[in-house]
Amino acid sequence: MLYRVKYDSSGEWRFVCSDCWGTIGQHNPDYIYGGTWKAQK
Ligand SMILES: [Zn+2]
Repeated sequence: MLYRVKYDSSGEWRFVCSDCWGTIGQHNPDYIYGGTWKAQK
């Protein structure tokens, strides 16, 4: 399971794992949560 987020000024959607997702949103004014994304097998 990946998390779809925006977290920089580019406004691009990024996909991160749950570990990264836990830290990315902290102290980040550019953070936007876009839902989860099921990884293709
Ligand atoms: Zn990660």
